[in-house]
Amino acid sequence: MDQLTEKITTIKRHLKEEFLTDTRPWVVTFSGGKDSTTVLHLVVDMLLEMKKEGIVQTKKVYVVSSDTGVEMPLIEDYAGNKLDQIRKFAEKENLDIHVEKLSPKVTESFWTLLLGKGYPSPNQTFRWCTDRMKIRPATTFLKGLSDQNISILMLLGVRSDESASRAASIERRDDNFRGYSMHPDIPNAFVYSPIKDWTNAEVWTFLSKYPAPWGKHDDMMVLYDKGSGEGDCNVALNPEAATCGKTRFGCWVCTVVTKDKSMDNMLKNPEDQWMKPLHNFRNLLEDYRDPESGKRQPRRRNGQKSIGPFKLQTRKELLEKLLETEQKLKLELAGKTLIKDEEIIQIQEEWLNDGDFFESAIKLAKSYGRNVPYQSVKAFNQDEQEYIDSLCHEHNINKELIDHIMQCEHSYRHHSIRAKAFGEFETIIERFAKGQLNEI
Ligand code: SF4
Repeated sequence: MDQLTEKITTIKRHLKEEFLTDTRPWVVTFSGGKDSTTVLHLVVDMLLEMKKEGIVQTKKVYVVSSDTGVEMPLIEDYAGNKLDQIRKFAEKENLDIHVEKLSPKVTESFWTLLLGKGYPSPNQTFRWCTDRMKIRPATTFLKGLSDQNISILMLLGVRSDESASRAASIERRDDNFRGYSMHPDIPNAFVYSPIKDWTNAEVWTFLSKYPAPWGKHDDMMVLYDKGSGEGDCNVALNPEAATCGKTRFGCWVCTVVTKDKSMDNMLKNPEDQWMKPLHNFRNLLEDYRDPESGKRQPRRRNGQKSIGPFKLQTRKELLEKLLETEQKLKLELAGKTLIKDEEIIQIQEEWLNDGDFFESAIKLAKSYGRNVPYQSVKAFNQDEQEYIDSLCHEHNINKELIDHIMQCEHSYRHHSIRAKAFGEFETIIERFAKGQLNEI
Protein backbone atom coordinates (compact mmCIF):
# COMPACT_ATOMS: atom_id res chain seq x y z
CA MET A 1 0.00 0.00 0.00
CA ASP A 2 1.51 3.39 -0.94
CA GLN A 3 1.68 6.22 1.56
CA LEU A 4 -1.36 8.10 0.24
CA THR A 5 -3.56 5.00 0.12
CA GLU A 6 -2.55 4.32 3.70
CA LYS A 7 -3.46 7.87 4.71
CA ILE A 8 -6.85 7.60 2.98
CA THR A 9 -7.64 4.30 4.71
CA THR A 10 -6.60 5.64 8.12
CA ILE A 11 -8.61 8.84 7.74
CA LYS A 12 -11.75 7.06 6.62
CA ARG A 13 -11.48 4.63 9.52
CA HIS A 14 -10.94 7.53 11.93
CA LEU A 15 -13.84 9.50 10.43
CA LYS A 16 -16.12 6.50 10.84
CA GLU A 17 -15.12 5.99 14.48
CA GLU A 18 -15.71 9.65 15.21
CA PHE A 19 -19.00 9.67 13.34
CA LEU A 20 -20.37 6.80 15.38
CA THR A 21 -19.09 8.03 18.74
CA ASP A 22 -21.64 10.78 19.41
CA THR A 23 -24.70 12.54 18.00
CA ARG A 24 -23.33 16.00 17.26
CA PRO A 25 -23.97 16.96 13.60
CA TRP A 26 -21.07 17.50 11.26
CA VAL A 27 -20.54 20.64 9.22
CA VAL A 28 -18.24 20.47 6.22
CA THR A 29 -17.29 23.97 5.15
CA PHE A 30 -17.22 23.83 1.38
CA SER A 31 -15.64 26.51 -0.80
CA GLY A 32 -15.40 24.45 -3.96
CA GLY A 33 -11.60 24.59 -3.70
CA LYS A 34 -9.40 21.51 -3.68
CA ASP A 35 -8.94 21.15 0.09
CA SER A 36 -12.56 21.44 1.14
CA THR A 37 -13.54 19.21 -1.80
CA THR A 38 -11.09 16.58 -0.56
CA VAL A 39 -12.59 16.62 2.92
CA LEU A 40 -16.14 16.37 1.60
CA HIS A 41 -15.09 13.59 -0.76
CA LEU A 42 -13.62 11.59 2.14
CA VAL A 43 -16.70 12.15 4.30
CA VAL A 44 -19.12 11.07 1.54
CA ASP A 45 -16.95 8.01 0.79
CA MET A 46 -17.13 7.11 4.47
CA LEU A 47 -20.95 7.51 4.52
CA LEU A 48 -21.27 5.30 1.45
CA GLU A 49 -19.06 2.62 3.00
CA MET A 50 -21.20 2.68 6.16
CA LYS A 51 -24.32 2.38 4.04
CA LYS A 52 -22.85 -0.68 2.29
CA GLU A 53 -22.11 -2.21 5.68
CA GLY A 54 -25.73 -1.63 6.70
CA ILE A 55 -24.85 0.97 9.35
CA VAL A 56 -27.64 3.53 9.75
CA GLN A 57 -26.59 7.18 9.49
CA THR A 58 -27.52 8.55 12.89
CA LYS A 59 -26.58 12.17 12.43
CA LYS A 60 -26.86 14.87 9.80
CA VAL A 61 -23.99 16.18 7.71
CA TYR A 62 -24.27 19.81 6.64
CA VAL A 63 -22.36 21.05 3.63
CA VAL A 64 -22.07 24.78 4.16
CA SER A 65 -21.04 27.18 1.47
CA SER A 66 -20.91 30.94 1.37
CA ASP A 67 -22.40 33.09 -1.37
CA THR A 68 -21.46 36.74 -0.99
CA GLY A 69 -23.59 37.84 -3.95
CA VAL A 70 -20.45 39.19 -5.65
CA GLU A 71 -18.66 35.95 -6.40
CA MET A 72 -16.77 35.73 -9.67
CA PRO A 73 -19.37 34.51 -12.19
CA LEU A 74 -17.30 31.48 -13.21
CA ILE A 75 -16.85 30.49 -9.58
CA GLU A 76 -20.49 31.14 -8.77
CA ASP A 77 -21.57 28.83 -11.60
CA TYR A 78 -19.04 26.19 -10.63
CA ALA A 79 -19.94 26.24 -6.91
CA GLY A 80 -23.67 26.31 -7.70
CA ASN A 81 -23.31 23.26 -9.98
CA LYS A 82 -21.25 21.39 -7.42
CA LEU A 83 -23.77 22.02 -4.66
CA ASP A 84 -26.58 20.88 -6.95
CA GLN A 85 -24.67 17.71 -7.84
CA ILE A 86 -24.02 16.97 -4.16
CA ARG A 87 -27.65 17.62 -3.22
CA LYS A 88 -28.95 15.34 -5.98
CA PHE A 89 -26.42 12.64 -5.19
CA ALA A 90 -27.36 12.70 -1.50
CA GLU A 91 -31.05 12.41 -2.41
CA LYS A 92 -30.40 9.53 -4.79
CA GLU A 93 -28.30 7.64 -2.26
CA ASN A 94 -30.61 8.55 0.60
CA LEU A 95 -27.79 10.11 2.61
CA ASP A 96 -28.66 12.57 5.37
CA ILE A 97 -26.70 15.45 3.81
CA HIS A 98 -28.02 19.01 3.82
CA VAL A 99 -26.56 21.63 1.55
CA GLU A 100 -26.74 25.20 2.85
CA LYS A 101 -25.77 28.34 0.97
CA LEU A 102 -25.16 31.23 3.34
CA SER A 103 -25.65 34.81 2.14
CA PRO A 104 -25.50 38.19 3.85
CA LYS A 105 -28.72 39.97 4.82
CA VAL A 106 -29.81 42.48 2.20
CA THR A 107 -29.04 45.30 4.66
CA GLU A 108 -25.46 44.03 4.89
CA SER A 109 -24.77 43.08 1.30
CA PHE A 110 -21.80 44.49 -0.60
CA TRP A 111 -23.92 46.75 -2.80
CA THR A 112 -26.13 48.00 0.02
CA LEU A 113 -23.13 49.06 2.06
CA LEU A 114 -21.04 50.43 -0.79
CA LEU A 115 -23.69 52.02 -3.00
CA GLY A 116 -26.42 52.51 -0.41
CA LYS A 117 -24.45 53.78 2.56
CA GLY A 118 -21.35 54.85 0.65
CA TYR A 119 -18.80 52.65 2.44
CA PRO A 120 -15.52 53.11 0.58
CA SER A 121 -14.37 50.06 -1.35
CA PRO A 122 -12.70 47.79 1.22
CA ASN A 123 -8.95 47.69 1.77
CA GLN A 124 -6.61 46.10 4.33
CA THR A 125 -7.32 48.76 6.96
CA PHE A 126 -11.09 49.00 6.46
CA ARG A 127 -12.03 45.49 5.41
CA TRP A 128 -15.72 45.60 6.30
CA CYS A 129 -16.74 43.04 3.67
CA THR A 130 -15.51 39.74 5.13
CA ASP A 131 -17.33 40.25 8.38
CA ARG A 132 -20.64 41.33 6.82
CA MET A 133 -20.69 38.98 3.85
CA LYS A 134 -19.10 35.84 5.20
CA ILE A 135 -18.52 35.75 8.93
CA ARG A 136 -21.88 37.07 10.14
CA PRO A 137 -24.07 34.79 7.97
CA ALA A 138 -21.93 31.78 8.91
CA THR A 139 -21.91 32.67 12.62
CA THR A 140 -25.69 33.01 12.68
CA PHE A 141 -26.12 29.65 10.99
CA LEU A 142 -23.54 27.78 13.06
CA LYS A 143 -24.66 29.28 16.38
CA GLY A 144 -28.24 28.29 15.58
CA LEU A 145 -27.17 24.77 14.71
CA SER A 146 -25.01 24.46 17.78
CA ASP A 147 -27.84 25.72 20.03
CA GLN A 148 -30.31 23.22 18.55
CA ASN A 149 -27.92 20.30 18.89
CA ILE A 150 -25.93 21.25 22.00
CA SER A 151 -22.73 20.88 19.98
CA ILE A 152 -21.44 20.61 16.40
CA LEU A 153 -18.24 19.44 14.73
CA MET A 154 -16.83 21.47 11.86
CA LEU A 155 -14.61 19.66 9.38
CA LEU A 156 -12.16 21.96 7.68
CA GLY A 157 -9.87 21.48 4.73
CA VAL A 158 -6.88 23.26 6.22
CA ARG A 159 -3.37 21.87 5.84
CA SER A 160 -0.04 22.66 7.47
CA ASP A 161 1.88 22.75 4.21
CA GLU A 162 -0.30 25.52 2.77
CA SER A 163 1.91 28.16 4.38
CA ALA A 164 4.13 28.77 7.39
CA SER A 165 1.41 30.82 9.08
CA ARG A 166 -1.15 28.06 8.51
CA ALA A 167 1.24 25.52 9.99
CA ALA A 168 1.82 27.76 13.01
CA SER A 169 -1.89 28.26 13.52
CA ILE A 170 -2.55 24.50 13.38
CA GLU A 171 0.37 23.98 15.75
CA ARG A 172 -1.09 26.50 18.23
CA ARG A 173 -4.37 24.60 18.44
CA ASP A 174 -5.17 22.95 21.69
CA ASP A 175 -6.47 19.65 20.31
CA ASN A 176 -8.24 17.24 22.65
CA PHE A 177 -7.55 13.52 22.66
CA ARG A 178 -9.87 13.11 19.65
CA GLY A 179 -7.99 15.68 17.62
CA TYR A 180 -10.71 18.34 18.03
CA SER A 181 -10.14 21.93 19.09
CA MET A 182 -12.73 24.44 20.31
CA HIS A 183 -13.93 26.99 17.80
CA PRO A 184 -12.84 30.39 19.16
CA ASP A 185 -16.18 32.13 18.51
CA ILE A 186 -18.97 29.59 18.26
CA PRO A 187 -20.00 28.17 21.62
CA ASN A 188 -19.84 24.38 21.73
CA ALA A 189 -18.48 24.08 18.22
CA PHE A 190 -15.45 21.89 17.70
CA VAL A 191 -13.06 22.00 14.80
CA TYR A 192 -11.37 19.05 13.15
CA SER A 193 -9.02 19.03 10.15
CA PRO A 194 -8.77 15.50 8.75
CA ILE A 195 -6.22 16.37 6.06
CA LYS A 196 -4.01 18.72 8.07
CA ASP A 197 -0.93 16.52 7.40
CA TRP A 198 -1.51 16.12 3.67
CA THR A 199 0.82 17.74 1.20
CA ASN A 200 -0.35 19.71 -1.79
CA ALA A 201 0.79 16.91 -4.07
CA GLU A 202 -1.19 14.35 -2.10
CA VAL A 203 -4.35 16.39 -2.41
CA TRP A 204 -3.92 16.69 -6.17
CA THR A 205 -3.06 13.01 -6.54
CA PHE A 206 -6.14 12.07 -4.55
CA LEU A 207 -8.42 14.29 -6.63
CA SER A 208 -6.96 13.16 -9.94
CA LYS A 209 -7.03 9.49 -9.07
CA TYR A 210 -10.49 9.27 -7.50
CA PRO A 211 -13.53 10.96 -9.03
CA ALA A 212 -15.91 12.31 -6.39
CA PRO A 213 -18.98 10.15 -5.74
CA TRP A 214 -21.16 13.03 -7.00
CA GLY A 215 -19.15 13.65 -10.19
CA LYS A 216 -15.72 14.19 -11.63
CA HIS A 217 -13.32 16.85 -10.36
CA ASP A 218 -12.35 17.87 -13.90
CA ASP A 219 -14.18 21.21 -13.83
CA MET A 220 -12.31 22.18 -10.67
CA MET A 221 -8.99 21.33 -12.30
CA VAL A 222 -9.94 23.58 -15.21
CA LEU A 223 -10.69 26.44 -12.84
CA TYR A 224 -7.37 26.00 -11.07
CA ASP A 225 -5.64 26.01 -14.43
CA LYS A 226 -7.29 29.27 -15.38
CA GLY A 227 -6.31 31.23 -12.28
CA SER A 228 -3.11 30.94 -10.34
CA GLY A 229 -3.68 32.84 -7.12
CA GLU A 230 -2.52 31.51 -3.81
CA GLY A 231 -4.60 29.63 -1.32
CA ASP A 232 -8.11 28.37 -1.18
CA CYS A 233 -10.87 30.57 0.15
CA ASN A 234 -12.48 28.35 2.72
CA VAL A 235 -15.20 30.73 3.48
CA ALA A 236 -17.69 29.50 6.00
CA LEU A 237 -16.28 30.74 9.25
CA ASN A 238 -13.07 28.84 9.17
CA PRO A 239 -11.00 30.28 12.02
CA GLU A 240 -7.86 29.48 10.08
CA ALA A 241 -9.05 30.59 6.67
CA ALA A 242 -6.51 31.98 4.22
CA THR A 243 -6.51 35.75 4.46
CA CYS A 244 -9.64 36.61 2.62
CA GLY A 245 -8.86 38.75 -0.37
CA LYS A 246 -5.68 36.82 -1.16
CA THR A 247 -7.59 33.83 -2.23
CA ARG A 248 -8.22 32.15 -5.52
CA PHE A 249 -11.97 32.15 -5.26
CA GLY A 250 -12.59 35.68 -4.07
CA CYS A 251 -15.22 38.25 -4.99
CA TRP A 252 -14.96 39.90 -8.39
CA VAL A 253 -15.23 43.33 -6.73
CA CYS A 254 -12.36 42.67 -4.31
CA THR A 255 -10.23 45.76 -3.78
CA VAL A 256 -8.50 44.38 -0.69
CA VAL A 257 -5.82 43.00 -2.96
CA THR A 258 -4.01 45.71 -4.88
CA LYS A 259 -3.98 43.49 -7.92
CA ASP A 260 -6.60 40.87 -8.58
CA LYS A 261 -4.23 38.12 -9.71
CA SER A 262 -6.96 35.57 -10.08
CA MET A 263 -8.98 37.76 -12.44
CA ASP A 264 -5.81 38.89 -14.23
CA ASN A 265 -4.95 35.29 -14.94
CA MET A 266 -8.43 34.40 -16.06
CA LEU A 267 -8.43 37.30 -18.49
CA LYS A 268 -5.45 35.76 -20.25
CA ASN A 269 -7.76 33.02 -21.49
CA PRO A 270 -9.56 34.06 -24.68
CA GLU A 271 -12.80 32.38 -23.54
CA ASP A 272 -12.85 34.47 -20.34
CA GLN A 273 -12.17 37.84 -21.95
CA TRP A 274 -15.84 38.72 -21.58
CA MET A 275 -15.17 39.39 -17.88
CA LYS A 276 -13.02 42.42 -18.73
CA PRO A 277 -15.85 44.91 -17.98
CA LEU A 278 -16.09 43.39 -14.48
CA HIS A 279 -12.39 43.91 -14.01
CA ASN A 280 -12.68 47.50 -15.21
CA PHE A 281 -15.48 48.16 -12.76
CA ARG A 282 -13.44 46.66 -9.93
CA ASN A 283 -10.53 48.94 -10.87
CA LEU A 284 -12.87 51.93 -10.80
CA LEU A 285 -13.87 51.02 -7.24
CA GLU A 286 -10.22 51.02 -6.29
CA ASP A 287 -9.56 54.39 -7.93
CA TYR A 288 -12.62 56.03 -6.37
CA ARG A 289 -11.60 54.93 -2.88
CA ASP A 290 -8.53 57.16 -3.10
CA PRO A 291 -9.07 60.20 -0.80
CA GLU A 292 -7.68 62.39 -3.60
CA SER A 293 -10.24 61.16 -6.12
CA GLY A 294 -12.82 63.75 -5.08
CA LYS A 295 -15.40 60.98 -4.96
CA ARG A 296 -15.74 60.92 -1.18
CA GLN A 297 -17.36 63.28 1.27
CA PRO A 298 -15.01 65.57 3.18
CA ARG A 299 -16.61 64.55 6.46
CA ARG A 300 -17.76 61.38 8.08
CA ARG A 301 -21.35 60.55 8.82
CA ASN A 302 -20.86 61.59 12.45
CA GLY A 303 -19.89 65.07 11.25
CA GLN A 304 -16.17 64.64 12.00
CA LYS A 305 -13.95 66.39 9.46
CA SER A 306 -12.11 63.59 7.74
CA ILE A 307 -12.39 61.70 4.51
CA GLY A 308 -15.83 60.09 4.61
CA PRO A 309 -18.11 57.80 2.61
CA PHE A 310 -18.69 57.99 -1.13
CA LYS A 311 -20.73 61.06 -2.07
CA LEU A 312 -24.30 60.41 -3.11
CA GLN A 313 -23.36 61.59 -6.58
CA THR A 314 -20.53 59.02 -6.71
CA ARG A 315 -22.89 56.27 -5.59
CA LYS A 316 -25.34 57.19 -8.35
CA GLU A 317 -22.52 57.17 -10.86
CA LEU A 318 -21.30 53.77 -9.67
CA LEU A 319 -24.79 52.26 -9.69
CA GLU A 320 -25.25 53.48 -13.23
CA LYS A 321 -21.90 52.01 -14.30
CA LEU A 322 -22.77 48.71 -12.61
CA LEU A 323 -26.11 48.52 -14.43
CA GLU A 324 -24.39 49.47 -17.65
CA THR A 325 -21.87 46.63 -17.11
CA GLU A 326 -24.71 44.23 -16.38
CA GLN A 327 -26.47 45.23 -19.57
CA LYS A 328 -23.26 44.85 -21.58
CA LEU A 329 -22.81 41.31 -20.24
CA LYS A 330 -26.45 40.29 -20.55
CA LEU A 331 -25.67 37.42 -22.87
CA GLU A 332 -22.79 36.04 -20.85
CA LEU A 333 -24.60 36.39 -17.52
CA ALA A 334 -27.41 34.26 -18.97
CA GLY A 335 -30.29 35.56 -16.89
CA LYS A 336 -28.23 36.35 -13.78
CA THR A 337 -27.86 39.90 -12.55
CA LEU A 338 -24.91 41.68 -10.94
CA ILE A 339 -27.18 43.31 -8.37
CA LYS A 340 -30.43 41.94 -6.99
CA ASP A 341 -33.78 43.76 -7.01
CA GLU A 342 -33.94 43.75 -3.23
CA GLU A 343 -30.51 45.38 -3.08
CA ILE A 344 -31.64 48.17 -5.40
CA ILE A 345 -34.68 48.69 -3.15
CA GLN A 346 -32.47 48.78 -0.07
CA ILE A 347 -30.09 51.22 -1.78
CA GLN A 348 -33.05 53.45 -2.57
CA GLU A 349 -34.08 53.35 1.10
CA GLU A 350 -30.55 54.40 2.08
CA TRP A 351 -30.51 57.18 -0.49
CA LEU A 352 -33.81 58.49 0.82
CA ASN A 353 -32.12 58.96 4.17
CA ASP A 354 -29.55 61.04 2.32
CA GLY A 355 -32.24 63.21 0.72
CA ASP A 356 -32.74 61.53 -2.65
CA PHE A 357 -36.49 62.08 -2.89
CA PHE A 358 -36.65 61.47 -6.63
CA GLU A 359 -36.08 57.71 -6.38
CA SER A 360 -32.95 57.87 -8.49
CA ALA A 361 -31.89 54.25 -7.84
CA ILE A 362 -35.23 52.89 -9.01
CA LYS A 363 -35.25 55.19 -12.03
CA LEU A 364 -31.69 54.31 -12.96
CA ALA A 365 -32.52 50.62 -12.74
CA LYS A 366 -35.56 51.17 -14.93
CA SER A 367 -33.51 52.97 -17.55
CA TYR A 368 -31.39 49.81 -17.80
CA GLY A 369 -34.37 47.52 -18.22
CA ARG A 370 -34.77 46.50 -14.57
CA ASN A 371 -38.32 46.79 -13.32
CA VAL A 372 -37.82 46.85 -9.60
CA PRO A 373 -41.05 46.56 -7.60
CA TYR A 374 -40.85 49.49 -5.24
CA GLN A 375 -43.28 51.57 -3.27
CA SER A 376 -41.96 54.18 -0.97
CA VAL A 377 -43.82 56.23 1.59
CA LYS A 378 -40.90 58.57 2.10
CA ALA A 379 -40.02 59.68 -1.44
CA PHE A 380 -42.03 62.28 -3.36
CA ASN A 381 -44.98 60.59 -4.96
CA GLN A 382 -45.54 60.75 -8.70
CA ASP A 383 -47.70 63.88 -8.48
CA GLU A 384 -45.20 65.68 -6.30
CA GLN A 385 -42.34 64.74 -8.60
CA GLU A 386 -44.29 65.95 -11.60
CA TYR A 387 -45.16 69.19 -9.79
CA ILE A 388 -41.50 69.88 -9.02
CA ASP A 389 -40.62 69.02 -12.61
CA SER A 390 -43.20 71.49 -13.89
CA LEU A 391 -41.99 74.24 -11.50
CA CYS A 392 -38.40 73.70 -12.63
CA HIS A 393 -39.53 73.82 -16.21
CA GLU A 394 -41.67 76.94 -15.70
CA HIS A 395 -38.87 78.85 -13.96
CA ASN A 396 -36.13 77.39 -16.11
CA ILE A 397 -34.31 75.92 -13.13
CA ASN A 398 -32.14 72.85 -13.43
CA LYS A 399 -33.73 69.93 -11.57
CA GLU A 400 -30.40 68.44 -10.66
CA LEU A 401 -29.53 71.69 -8.92
CA ILE A 402 -32.78 71.55 -6.93
CA ASP A 403 -32.05 67.91 -6.12
CA HIS A 404 -28.62 68.86 -4.72
CA ILE A 405 -30.02 71.73 -2.67
CA MET A 406 -32.72 69.48 -1.21
CA GLN A 407 -30.16 66.84 -0.28
CA CYS A 408 -28.07 69.50 1.42
CA GLU A 409 -31.08 70.86 3.29
CA HIS A 410 -32.01 67.34 4.31
CA SER A 411 -28.55 66.70 5.74
CA TYR A 412 -29.23 69.52 8.25
CA ARG A 413 -32.54 68.07 9.43
CA HIS A 414 -31.17 67.15 12.87
CA HIS A 415 -29.30 70.42 13.41
CA SER A 416 -30.90 72.98 15.69
CA ILE A 417 -28.93 75.78 14.02
CA ARG A 418 -29.07 75.52 10.27
CA ALA A 419 -27.45 78.79 9.27
CA LYS A 420 -24.47 76.98 7.77
CA ALA A 421 -26.77 75.37 5.25
CA PHE A 422 -27.08 78.71 3.42
CA GLY A 423 -23.33 78.79 2.87
CA GLU A 424 -23.54 75.32 1.42
CA PHE A 425 -26.46 76.30 -0.84
CA GLU A 426 -24.31 79.10 -2.22
CA THR A 427 -21.43 76.71 -2.88
CA ILE A 428 -23.78 74.37 -4.72
CA ILE A 429 -25.15 77.18 -6.87
CA GLU A 430 -21.65 78.47 -7.55
CA ARG A 431 -20.45 75.02 -8.61
CA PHE A 432 -23.52 74.61 -10.76
CA ALA A 433 -22.77 77.90 -12.49
CA LYS A 434 -19.23 76.67 -13.18
CA GLY A 435 -20.51 73.34 -14.49
CA GLN A 436 -18.99 71.48 -11.52
CA LEU A 437 -22.13 70.10 -9.94
CA ASN A 438 -20.81 66.55 -10.14
CA GLU A 439 -17.89 67.48 -7.94
CA ILE A 440 -20.05 68.31 -4.94
S1 SF4 B 1 -12.75 38.31 -1.30
FE1 SF4 B 1 -12.23 40.46 -1.00
S2 SF4 B 1 -14.20 41.55 -1.22
FE2 SF4 B 1 -14.68 39.38 -0.92
S3 SF4 B 1 -15.04 39.25 1.28
FE3 SF4 B 1 -12.90 38.68 0.90
S4 SF4 B 1 -11.75 40.59 1.19
FE4 SF4 B 1 -13.90 41.12 0.94
